[in-house]
Amino acid sequence: MDNMTRIDCLAKDGTLPKGELIELLSSYSEADRIYAAERARKISLSVFGRKIYTRGLIEISNYCRNDCYYCGIRRSNTKAVRYRLSLDEIYYCCDWGYGAGFRTFVLQGGEDSFFTDDLLVEIISRIKEKYSDCAITLSLGEKERASYQRLFVAGADRYLLRHETANETHYCKLHPSFLTLANRKRCLYDLKEIGFQTGCGLMVGSPFQTREHLAEDLLFMKEFGPHMVGIGPFIPHSETPFRDYQAGSAEDSLFMVSLVRLMHPRVLLPATTALGTVRSDGREQGILAGANVVMPNLSPLDARKNYLLYDNKIGTADDASESLATVKAKIESIGYEMVVERGDYK
Ligand code: SAH
Repeated sequence: MDNMTRIDCLAKDGTLPKGELIELLSSYSEADRIYAAERARKISLSVFGRKIYTRGLIEISNYCRNDCYYCGIRRSNTKAVRYRLSLDEIYYCCDWGYGAGFRTFVLQGGEDSFFTDDLLVEIISRIKEKYSDCAITLSLGEKERASYQRLFVAGADRYLLRHETANETHYCKLHPSFLTLANRKRCLYDLKEIGFQTGCGLMVGSPFQTREHLAEDLLFMKEFGPHMVGIGPFIPHSETPFRDYQAGSAEDSLFMVSLVRLMHPRVLLPATTALGTVRSDGREQGILAGANVVMPNLSPLDARKNYLLYDNKIGTADDASESLATVKAKIESIGYEMVVERGDYK
């Protein structure tokens, strides 16, 4: 099979045998990447039209009890300047975001025990009370099933938890031994069973990642059936054990975005900030490769300059209105439009 045939098969059948995926990922050319992007873009156009869903990202805390080797807010990074937003700051972000047309708020943060289930329930209930037409997405890491259940009952609609890699051995190379792929997957299956629109995903080009691992990621996602998939390049952070590793490439990341779209026509697929960091037109290219979501940052200025998962993150000196204006201009420059909608998985 040649690569264009493999791409056609993926579009037609939604999957390929592992060996064919590895071949495709190992040998794809620039022409193959462009072909995959065209096919993927056609699919998103047929499902979503030229509408791009927006999510307002609120980075509520960079305290983290976890210690992932790639992440700039890992607990062992003693140089990180830690902060957590007050409830009033979080509500202010929502108020501003609502006025600016956001109908989804994403509360993201490190695994910070200050934000107990009780406190999160209070925050979620309050936002839902005021903005009943908005969706709430949480991205707060691994929790017990009972905690996820409480947050869902309180009104949270979606949960993002990237699986990071579907290969056990690779997972162990990215995380300390107290974290396991089995638990990450347990969280994902719990979230889905509870009723969350659930997102998994991965970093492309993370240290020790092989083409076989990427094939395994695609097959895991096929089996899991996510509602959302987050894909961005790995980018080193200078205060982590992976400081000397290279960033993942924009091209590999864009190719993975296209393959995910081919395999999951209706999935909610963001053009990520990390993609926009490794390439100045990364987010536009992401949309042209099949993405249909953007997540402008609503966090207050002093929070965003300290919420540094990786080096050179874009937008850390912008305020919320600048972040929004930048993203809007990018989307319009390629003939797409931002819409005022919750943008649920259908
Ligand atoms: N603590 C939460 C959410 C914050 S991290 C959680 O564990 O889900 C959100 C995502 O950022 C991670 O899932 C990871 O894929 C990504 N990320 C972390 N460090 C990164 C890096 N150095 N380069 C690129 N992406 C990174």
